[in-house]
Amino acid sequence: MRTEYCGNCGYRRGFKRNLGIGTILMLLLTFGWWLVVIPFYPVRCIQCGVSYSDIALWKTLLFLLFLLVVGFCVYLAITV
Ligand SMILES: [Zn+2]
Repeated sequence: MRTEYCGNCGYRRGFKRNLGIGTILMLLLTFGWWLVVIPFYPVRCIQCGVSYSDIALWKTLLFLLFLLVVGFCVYLAITV
């Protein structure tokens, strides 16, 4: 488990892979081959369950929005 800032909770929280009954069932159905897939499970906040990649996506989208707003302000400053 690693500790990261959770953008959803607003606090530093523990992040880990959520292995549940579905994982156990898939391990039984695939005779243990499902272990190969587990490293690709997203790490999730232990408090709210949002995945770390979701937060990274939102950070990227907010940054793009910020660039768009700054670009629009520069455009207005140049044209007016
Ligand atoms: Zn959280």
